[in-house]
Amino acid sequence: MNTTPRIDAQAGGLAARFEATFGAPPHGVWAAPGRVNLIGEHTDYNEGFVLPFAIDKRARTAVRLRGDTLQKGSPHQGALREDTTVRLLSTSGGQVLVLADAAKLTPGAVKSWAKYPLGVVWALQQHGIQVPGFDLLLDSDVPLGAGLSSSHAIECAVITALNDLTGAGLTAEEMVRLTQHAENAFVGAPTGIMDQSASLRGALGHAVFLDCRDQTVQLVPFAAQEAGLVLLVIDTKVSHSHADGGYASRRASCELGAETLGVKALRDVAIGELEKARELLDPVTFRRVRHVVTENERVLQTVDMLRSQGPAHIGGLLDASHASMRDDFEISCPELDLAVDTARGNGAIGARMTGGGFGGSAIALTPVQHEQQVRDAVVRAFADAGHTAPDIFTVTPAAGAERIL
Ligand code: ADP
Ligand code: MG
Repeated sequence: MNTTPRIDAQAGGLAARFEATFGAPPHGVWAAPGRVNLIGEHTDYNEGFVLPFAIDKRARTAVRLRGDTLQKGSPHQGALREDTTVRLLSTSGGQVLVLADAAKLTPGAVKSWAKYPLGVVWALQQHGIQVPGFDLLLDSDVPLGAGLSSSHAIECAVITALNDLTGAGLTAEEMVRLTQHAENAFVGAPTGIMDQSASLRGALGHAVFLDCRDQTVQLVPFAAQEAGLVLLVIDTKVSHSHADGGYASRRASCELGAETLGVKALRDVAIGELEKARELLDPVTFRRVRHVVTENERVLQTVDMLRSQGPAHIGGLLDASHASMRDDFEISCPELDLAVDTARGNGAIGARMTGGGFGGSAIALTPVQHEQQVRDAVVRAFADAGHTAPDIFTVTPAAGAERIL
């Protein structure tokens, strides 16, 4: 693996912009990427396996602690340490400076994007880590709401920065748990650990094989480019209104299935036990269970395949994952099916919807020589069907969270 400090062309410009805004240079700049899930959908809350990777789109944060402007040993340093003011600015959106008091944070009270960085501050404090006041400038090129976890990219960049600046010495595993706590308890989103694990523990040219039961991670080579492949993300730009209810009802079906089958989680059901499960479950619950059980198996097979033969051999597993989500878990939608079918019909070697479902993005693993054909065909198919034009772009497996200046 590459251990030399990574050069990030944006870091210097962000630091200059920080200084122009706040009147002093930042103490550093930290970055954390968004993620794409290669395979393993709705397996996380069933204590199963997922295989996301960190992408080459990231949130960058320039940060300066406010109580740190005096020489060490100065009699005034204690007083400045008690400065708990937080000033936050993002380069996108309305560019409104958000002011907060790090000592007075209440879960659920922050509504703007500031809930992500402030949620991290709150979670650190809950963990017994003192966070003094600070100034922060955020700049992110992770598209919002496209299923690439732009919110976790922010949280992971902020926790990496504050971990360094406060000398808290947290491990990546601890930061995963703290950002999950921030999302669940402060932001109020019932998310798992996949997104942060990819953002904090990802590595260049690798996917992150995560066991959601014990949170162990193995890095798996995913050198798509070297195999002459690109991974296209097709953002359908739709989010169907039943997405929230659909997610909750799928979780409920999984819990019912596990309970009826007498296991702690669907992770504990083997492929060979599915026929017996069919007799014990109603037809709908059975199909939900079959998706989770077969999807876990597909993640394991994808990991084996990437290790033994490389990315050119995982297309069939991606296709089978999509079929399972469409037919058994029933979380696809016409736009996602059209994106997947059109990509497959125009040279992609495998394609699937990715993320929670009912909209969002699909991914298509495509030989470089077919990339343009797939792009053109998908755009045309969406226009012909009267759908909103999709956004199509490539992603590559990139480094996890790191200091860049
Ligand atoms: P996802 O994480 O899938 O992209 P979310 O709804 O969880 O979607 O997170 C999107 C939210 O993250 C936005 O509504 C906004 O509050 C915040 N966000 C993302 N990127 C930025 C940015 N560059 N500046 C400010 N806020 C951002
Ligand atoms: Mg999010």
